[in-house]
Amino acid sequence: MASQGRNNRILLDLVQQAGNDLCADCAAPEPDWASYTLGVFVCLNCSGMHRNLPSVSRVKSIRLDYWEDSLVQFMQQMGNTAAKAVFEKCVPSFYYRPRHHDCIVLKDQWIRAKYERREFTGERNDFLQTYNQDLFESTLWKKGKDNKQYLKRTFQLSQRDFTLRYFTKEDVSSLKR
Ligand SMILES: [Zn+2]
Repeated sequence: MASQGRNNRILLDLVQQAGNDLCADCAAPEPDWASYTLGVFVCLNCSGMHRNLPSVSRVKSIRLDYWEDSLVQFMQQMGNTAAKAVFEKCVPSFYYRPRHHDCIVLKDQWIRAKYERREFTGERNDFLQTYNQDLFESTLWKKGKDNKQYLKRTFQLSQRDFTLRYFTKEDVSSLKR
């Protein structure tokens, strides 16, 4: 029990340090949970979302849970600043990073993109290409005016024009610029 108290005290010291003093995911002050697989200190709220990703993140309370020496050492080596350098290495400049007052859906998507899909580590760039493309083209299902059935339509999302357009014919090759 003595070592448990000592390790919790080490973590409570560690969480005061710059970088660790704000939740790694939403910047809420005084996080008191931590992911011992990712090495980040997070708030109670974000720890709940980490709990939904057991293949990438395992969380413990830094006050109440038992911490083994090796896990504490990992937290000392990693911490929020080092983790940010890995998991937020290539966040597109226009990507909105949710804050603690934002809705849970935004935060959940951010946490999944960061740790589960590793979109911003720079290991894969297909996500970034999608984000950075001026023109994004895909298909959607649109209810038809006449027969009220859903029809497959091609849409184009244009960053330059700031518009969403969809085409009423499936083949848009003739409509393209
Ligand atoms: Zn948080």
